Formats: sequence, C-alpha cells, structure tokens
Amino acid sequence: MKTFCGRANPTTGSMEWFEEGEDYDYHQEIARSRYADMLHDKDRNVKYYQGIRAAVSRVKERGEKAIVLDIGTGTGLLSMMAASAGADFCYAIEVFKPMANAAVKIVEKNGFSDKIKVINKHSTEVTVGPDGDMQCRANILVTELFDTELIGEGALPTYEHAHKYLVQEGCEAVPHRATVYVQLVESRRMWSWKKLFPVHVEAEDGEKILVPPSEMENCPGVPSVCDIQLNQMPSSDFSTLSDVVTMFSVDFSKPVQSASTYYRVQLEPVKSGKAQIVLSWWDIDMDPLGMINCTMAPYWVKPTSALQWRDHWMQCVYFLPHEEPVLQGEKLYLTACRDEYSVWYNLQKAREGENKADEEEHKADVRVESPVCRCRAHLLWNRPRFGELNDQNRTRQYIKALRKVLKTDSVCLCISDGSLLPVLAHCLGAKQVQCLVLSVHPSRIDLYHPHELWQAFLKANHLEAKIKIIEARPELLKPSHLEDKKISVLVGEPFFTTSLLPWHNLYFWYARTAVSTHLASSVTVLPQSASLHMMIVEFQDLWRIRSPCGTCEGFDVQTMDDMIKDSLNFRESKEAEPHPLWEYPCKSLSDPQEVLTFDFTKTVPQHCLSAEGSLKLLRKGKSHGAVLWMEYHLTADISVSTGLMQISNEKGNCEWNPHCKQAVYFFSSVIESEILSDPTAVTYAINFDTKTGEIAMDFKL
Ligand code: SAH
Repeated sequence: MKTFCGRANPTTGSMEWFEEGEDYDYHQEIARSRYADMLHDKDRNVKYYQGIRAAVSRVKERGEKAIVLDIGTGTGLLSMMAASAGADFCYAIEVFKPMANAAVKIVEKNGFSDKIKVINKHSTEVTVGPDGDMQCRANILVTELFDTELIGEGALPTYEHAHKYLVQEGCEAVPHRATVYVQLVESRRMWSWKKLFPVHVEAEDGEKILVPPSEMENCPGVPSVCDIQLNQMPSSDFSTLSDVVTMFSVDFSKPVQSASTYYRVQLEPVKSGKAQIVLSWWDIDMDPLGMINCTMAPYWVKPTSALQWRDHWMQCVYFLPHEEPVLQGEKLYLTACRDEYSVWYNLQKAREGENKADEEEHKADVRVESPVCRCRAHLLWNRPRFGELNDQNRTRQYIKALRKVLKTDSVCLCISDGSLLPVLAHCLGAKQVQCLVLSVHPSRIDLYHPHELWQAFLKANHLEAKIKIIEARPELLKPSHLEDKKISVLVGEPFFTTSLLPWHNLYFWYARTAVSTHLASSVTVLPQSASLHMMIVEFQDLWRIRSPCGTCEGFDVQTMDDMIKDSLNFRESKEAEPHPLWEYPCKSLSDPQEVLTFDFTKTVPQHCLSAEGSLKLLRKGKSHGAVLWMEYHLTADISVSTGLMQISNEKGNCEWNPHCKQAVYFFSSVIESEILSDPTAVTYAINFDTKTGEIAMDFKL
C-alpha cells in the first residue's frame, strides 16, 4: 500500500505531494505519538488502575464473571490492569494495526496471553456471538478515548455503539463519568488569538489607525479546538468573570447519545468585565461515587493539590462569537453546543423580568451553528498568527525598521502571507510609495481567497487604490506587474502559512532570489539577513514525550519504547520537531549561539551552508536536547527573535516568543552535567541544504 503525503517545500513555498511506502505513515504516527506521554502520566495510570480494581471487585461481589471490553487498548495497559485485578477475560480492541501488534507482544511478554484477546478492529466492526470476535457481551467497559476537548477523538459514537452491541445493560464503566467545567474570562492576550486589533501607526502626517474589515469583526472563527497548557498562562494575563461552573456530564455506564445537542447553565458574573473567552477542562471519575477522580483543572482551581504534567490532555480555550460586556451579579446564560466531535459556546443575557415561559422560549433560540469563518482570516491565519499580528511591540520594531529604509520615491514589494507590512509601508511612506502583495500560494487560493481578504482589509482602510495585490508566484512576476518599475525596497516578515519549522520561512530568500531581475541595483531588503540560533536546554517536563518508559504500573512496556525508537530512526532521527516553548518551561544549560547566517541581500547560493562547533554546558542539569530558532535582522540595528526573548534569571529559565513554534531536537541519550570548573561540551554539525531548504543536524555528547 502506498500513502500520499503532503508537505510544504521550503524552496517553493507550495505544497508538494509525494508517495511514501506503507511504513511511512505509521512510523510518523508512532514517532510523534502521545503513547509515551500517556505511559508517563502517573496520575492517570494510578487512577485507572484503582478504578479498574474497584469495578472488577464490584462485579465479583455480585458473583458474576468479570468480562472486560477495553476499547482502544494501545499498549494493552488497561487490559493488563484488569487481568491483574482478577478479570476473567479481556477483549482488547485496537484499530491501529502497528499498535495492535505491539499490544499482542506486550500482553505476551507480561504473561497475560490466556486472559487478553487483542482484536485489530475498529470497535464498531467488532462482532459478538459464538463465532464472533467476542463470545459474549462484556460487563466491564474500559476506555481511554478522550482528547483535551473530551469528545474530539470520537468517544461519544464509540460509547453509543458499545452500549448498543458490545456490553451488557447495567455494566460497570471505567471511567464511570466525565464532567466538563467552564469559567468565563476576560483576556486581552487570548482574545488577540481570534481578533485583529486596530493597529496604530505614528506617521509623519499624524497617527493613523488601521482597522479590520467588518466581516472580520463579526466572524465567529473556526470550530477547531484551541488546546493549550493553561498552567503556563500567568494569572496576570486574564481575569476570571465567573466561578467554575459544571457545564455537562456524561455517564459512561449508561447508553450514550452522540447526536448533536446543547447544554445551558445560568451564570452570575463575580465581577464586571468583558466576556470574551470560555476556559474549559474536564475530569473523570473512575468510580460511581467519584472517590477516584482524575482532573485537568488548572492551577488556580485547586491551588493546594499537586499538578500532574501531561501533554495528551490539556485545557481548552473557546472564543465567544462576540465580546459581551457583563455586570457583576447580572443573570447570564451560557450555552455549550456540541456535535459528535466538537463543542462551541454562546453567551446570552437574560431579558429583564424574564419568567419561566420566556425562559423556555429563550431555550429555543440558544442553539447556534458551529462556527464557520466568513472573513477568511481565520482560515489563512492560525491563532498564534493572530497573536503575532496583534503584538504591538513587534509591530513597533517593523515600523521603526521600515521608517529607516523607506524613501519618498520607494517602490516596495512585500513577500509574506497575509502581512500588514505593505499597509504599514504605505502609511509610513510618501504618496508615491507603491506596495505590492505577492500571492505565493496559488494552489491554496481556492481554499483561502487571501486576495479577497486583502481587498476587504484595504477597503476598510480606504487603501484599495494605494496598494496593488499581485497574484503570481515570484518566479512568474513580470515587469508589467510592476508597471515596469524596479523594486527599491523588498520586505517580508517573513511569514508563510505552510512553514512548520522556523527555517521554513527562509522561503523568503528563495522568493527574493526568484524576483532578482526586478530588483533595483540599490535595493534594500528587509530583513537584510536572518540567523539560526541554538541552545542546549533541560526541559521541566517536555522530555517525557520522547523518553522511554520501561515499566508502567509494574507492566513491562519496553516493546513500546523499542517501537518508538525504531520509528524515530526510520526517518526522523536527524530532524527537529516544532513546539511552542512558551508552553513548555525549560532552562538553558549553554549560552545561546548563532550557528548559521542567511544573507538576504544576496541570492540563495548553490552550495550548502554548514557549521560545526561546540556548546559548553555551563549549568548543572540534564541535557534533553537543543532548541533552534530564527532571528531576523530587519536593519543593521533592529532584530526580532522568533525564539528566545531572554533568559530570565540566574537559574537559566527561558522566556520564548509566545507566537512562534521553536524547533526541538531531542538527544537520543541524556547527559547530566555536574562539574562547572571544566564544562562538558556538546559538539554539533548543522547543514542547510540549499536545494531542499531543510536543515539536518547531528550532535555528539
Ligand atoms: N488504552 C491505552 C491507549 C489509549 S490511546 C492507554 O490507556 O494507555 C487510544 C487508542 O484507542 C489509540 O491507540 C487509538 O488507535 C484507539 N482507538 C480509538 N478509537 C477506537 C475505536 N473506536 N476502536 C478501536 N480502537 C480505537
């Protein structure tokens, strides 16, 4: 079997499709999977084990045989827990073939082959009966099918089907129930991930304010969940307007309905403010009485209890359709609507003197459609990108730099996806400044219509006649596009929506090379150069996602470790992976070091760019890996970093750019540095292949 994989080519900026063998897909899946993170989640594992033991005991006390159905067995962990707890037989269902194979091996290695039958099927394909996959219906239903949004991985339809066809009425379920909690908040920081705020530009002829088009103002955005490590959001970045409220619960021991529905709660704000965001998380009770509870509640909810770090379950940020000013003590209704796989929220004010009948009527119109972006901005920009565009400090740097390079007769060309730079350049320059936006992803135009988004933006600011949008790939740019003028200022942030790793934005360099013939001999390129920086770090927690587990709650899961290692070696071994490090605290063990520079005033060279060197481990700690990021040198003295902002204290804690993902290269083995008088050095070899636009790296510890 062949798989087609799409990947942006950093040298052309466009998506390319290529055929990969059958192995590719699954190695990718395993290498980047969350299985290791789940196995490291002690709190989860301990509570599942307690819940399973209790469920098996309850069934045994009733004098019944304990027959377990474990849907989504993964490594087989929960089935092995059940078998150890005395279950008579377990049916372990796993749809993903490589995992089902691993489960068979792990079950065998742990001596449970006679008690656990691994079935490589989707649960909805499982049959029951004398010739079926299962001899009889189970009386204990065990699953772990939840994502950060609880239902995003299809838990509801899976449960619905299981209750109809695979388990007995009145079965025990572990977990027994899940409850979703919400809290209404005001947060300029999080609201800036959905809205484009007005941009203030101090120009020669006074202050100009750029406003988003009205379509964007009223756009409900996109339905995809915004899941973050909320525990990394400082309390100064948001203000809670309500108490924590229970939004809805699902009892997994009873038949479950997956059809779309809504839940409504009444709220009274504890404080007046602007309702913008609904923060949400869930907990699961492993037993009917709720004595064994596993919660995703963030730090401020139960400040005394220890937090379990995990990456497979985080917290959700939901954006209300509109910002709503609310008053302390007033009556509000918060509605959670859901379909089979996702949840969205709506806030309503109770009408004056509302009675029961009105309330019923009210209920009828609370159902709202799932959010669909109408303004196109939410399709073109993801949430961090909105945050980046709204970052005033960053905008100020670009304005300062533009002011330095623009002249009254500048002909300016901007190459970046959906960038405000051309508009800023126009505001800062004299009337003759001509700015052009180059559409670099024609293959995606049908999907995103960035052209229309830009027309709307220009129209809202009365700039239609001032800025010309060219829809052409850089290599197809013609003199006529430019009215036969040569470009005197070429600008880019650079930012491209297809970039995954920091250096993929070097596509700007390739585009700059492609438009070379259109550049004036005295052209100014902004940024004039970029540099790749690197630092060795110790992660507080992120190391877990790529670290072997060995044993988990007494079960040998090394087979899983080996499998992950194999998959990493298959393709990924010399590759870094993108992570937004503001969510994953780490401390620097080495000084940051500039390792490569890219000169945008020149074209991309034919030869590779490589660097070798070493980084001294100056602090005591565990070297989990190297972090790499780009810095853009807008002018000789103005630079912006997409990675490290600063090292905040003598302990080495790092502050990262909150809008960008950095590249993380996990070392295959961890070294602990101790001696400070004679620091250990990590040697590296980095190679930027100008033909592919990719960076390969190798480290020796
Ligand atoms: N039970 C394991 C793994 C949980 S991850 C543990 O707790 O450690 C969830 C697993 O369920 C994944 O491996 C996924 O492939 C599988 N899965 C999800 N829905 C499924 C379904 N309906 N039928 C079979 N497998 C499913």
